[in-house]
Amino acid sequence: MRFIVDGMLGRLAKWLRVLGYDTAYFPHLDDDQLVRLARAEGRLLLTRDRGLAQRRGLQCLLIESDHLEEQLGQVLAEPTLTEEHPFSRCPVCNTPLQKVKKPELEGRVPPHIFRTHKDFSLCPNCDKIYWPGTHWARMQEKLAGFRHRT
Ligand SMILES: [Zn+2]
Repeated sequence: MRFIVDGMLGRLAKWLRVLGYDTAYFPHLDDDQLVRLARAEGRLLLTRDRGLAQRRGLQCLLIESDHLEEQLGQVLAEPTLTEEHPFSRCPVCNTPLQKVKKPELEGRVPPHIFRTHKDFSLCPNCDKIYWPGTHWARMQEKLAGFRHRT
């Protein structure tokens, strides 16, 4: 499933990317541009804006909460939601990540991270290196909780 997220929902966009969803987020777009892009690319628009959600010919989900976890919970409860691979996409720029061999990263990540992790991914677009850290692990637990409830 592919999303487009309105300018107020940047944190939600980031976490949907962490979960592996192709998520367009361009905070500088106005409503008309958002709608056009959503239609052109067949993306589900996520918005807090009731007026925007009522535009015709648009797949849209009106996000009800101001809180990130509840927002994620609402999206994950969508019956049409597809399964994606978490940690497969850059949270910053939405590009699919590439696996990198550990020896190539020596000196590019902090030494204690290099010692204690074995799976690393690289964003070929912005050259950032990712590894499943404790922050992501905690988020995964919360998300599993949401999935159970639905
Ligand atoms: Zn990136």
